[in-house]
Amino acid sequence: MSAVTSTRIVLASRPDGEPTEDNFRTETVDLPELSDGQVLLRTVYLSLDPYMRGRMSAAESYAAPVEVGDVMVGGTVSQVMESRNPDVAEGAYVLAYGGWQTHSVADGRSVRVLDPDRAPLSTALGVLGMPGFTAYAGLLKIGRPQAGETVVVAAASGPVGSAVGQIAKIHGARAVGIAGGPEKCAHVRDDLGFDVAIDHRADDFAEQLRDAVPDGIDVYFENVGGPVTAAVVPLLNLYARMPVCGLVAQYNAPSAPEGPDRLPAFMGRVLTKSLTIRGFIQSEFVEEMYDDFERDASQWVAQGLLKYREDVVDGLENAPEAFLGLLHGKNFGKLVVRVAPEE
Ligand code: NDP
Repeated sequence: MSAVTSTRIVLASRPDGEPTEDNFRTETVDLPELSDGQVLLRTVYLSLDPYMRGRMSAAESYAAPVEVGDVMVGGTVSQVMESRNPDVAEGAYVLAYGGWQTHSVADGRSVRVLDPDRAPLSTALGVLGMPGFTAYAGLLKIGRPQAGETVVVAAASGPVGSAVGQIAKIHGARAVGIAGGPEKCAHVRDDLGFDVAIDHRADDFAEQLRDAVPDGIDVYFENVGGPVTAAVVPLLNLYARMPVCGLVAQYNAPSAPEGPDRLPAFMGRVLTKSLTIRGFIQSEFVEEMYDDFERDASQWVAQGLLKYREDVVDGLENAPEAFLGLLHGKNFGKLVVRVAPEE
């Protein structure tokens, strides 16, 4: 095959606080010839996820940052254009980590072949992929919801939060969702079947939350941090569990917020309510739980017990703007970029 070029979006500079489109740059590069075992991929869907904000920063984290000048990382659904790996056929769709680019070269062992007849391909980046698994593992392993308990989750219309609430319901718990704005709240309650949905932008958010949990909170699945967490903590029950999954409200904060130091009061709660607070990165549970997740989640989706919503943006060139919006709740559902059409 003649040389293939890839249009890609690289990290042009590291943001200080709020990122802007200037932190990204588009360039076109020639891809290398394939070596034995490799595959040439064209990107069909690119996943945009909050963790990418962390990769733009040099601060210490659980994964290495993207270097300035390197292509932005990201999960993709890609199609195999050329294969020098006997296990990956040309034309197949695969789950890959192709990044923010139109084409990529990967080791055939690093991709997972997808069955387009099983579910829409884009779900491999959402409800049936990493975000869905994050909800499943974090809730069931750390949150351990029991029938009749109350589970609270924010970013409830997004891929992680929406699955958390619905899986909590499947396990007989009561699900309270927190989302930004009346449209998202209506979706969380009426389409996803949460018992209650509350707008964290409402002036009386803390009072609404208190009224929504008359028996207190047994599981708070932490997706956002900030003022939402401040309102939740006083409502946590004895032995409540808090899987700490993400803190999207503070990813752009360049320094600690102004105001009183809430840490002593928080630690007091941890002690007197015997709270279990456990951070996690989904990858730690893959070996133990991914097969169970695949079985359960596909069945729940087929049964209509696990619904999902996608927010599809067309064109790789729109990825930076869409990503910046994700950090402020402009997405409505799992955010994916359609980089090229499916066949
Ligand atoms: P979403 O698609 O739900 O997007 C993030 C959402 O966060 C926004 O849509 C917005 O929803 C909400 N949000 C943004 N800023 C604020 C704020 N200041 N206060 C309250 N809510 C805010 O994201 P995901 O479902 O992909 O991810 C949810 C969380 O899970 C993130 O924190 C992410 O980092 C984390 N995560 C962690 C993983 C792990 O392994 N630990 C793996 C995957 C995700 P709204 O408009 O409703 O406020």
